[in-house]
Amino acid sequence: MSLLKIVTIPSKNLREPSQEIKSADISQLSVLIENMIDTMYAGDGIGLAAPQIGQNIQLIVIGKDATTNNRDWALINPQIIKHSWRKQTAEEGCLSVPGINVKVTRSKKIIVKALSQEGKEFTFTAEDYFARVLQHEIDHLNGILIVDK
Ligand code: ZN
Repeated sequence: MSLLKIVTIPSKNLREPSQEIKSADISQLSVLIENMIDTMYAGDGIGLAAPQIGQNIQLIVIGKDATTNNRDWALINPQIIKHSWRKQTAEEGCLSVPGINVKVTRSKKIIVKALSQEGKEFTFTAEDYFARVLQHEIDHLNGILIVDK
């Protein structure tokens, strides 16, 4: 296990959009994904996006307490293809914005398209807390932070 350094504001890379990952590079991500998951849990987080560890690539991890199958998920090039009209507001924190909680309004339900760690494209529906964590992490890939909300 190896913990990564979490980048915090006002680091410039948190504000930059992340690059799409090429299919050929996916097989090289497994150690990075494991380290991101360990770093997320060590920081008491429920999700982590690659820009938060200083890499502007489209990769996020979500902890098993938020996913639908009680497993940690890694998503490559995730895209929200549909947002529900219904919204929900809740407080969020962020490992890159220490010591601050912000009330954020987000869609209650989303449909996400992504590549799995095995490079397979899949589409899934997420609701409530899972949808919130996904929207938070995908915002990171677009340089958006909770302080913008
Ligand atoms: Zn965050």
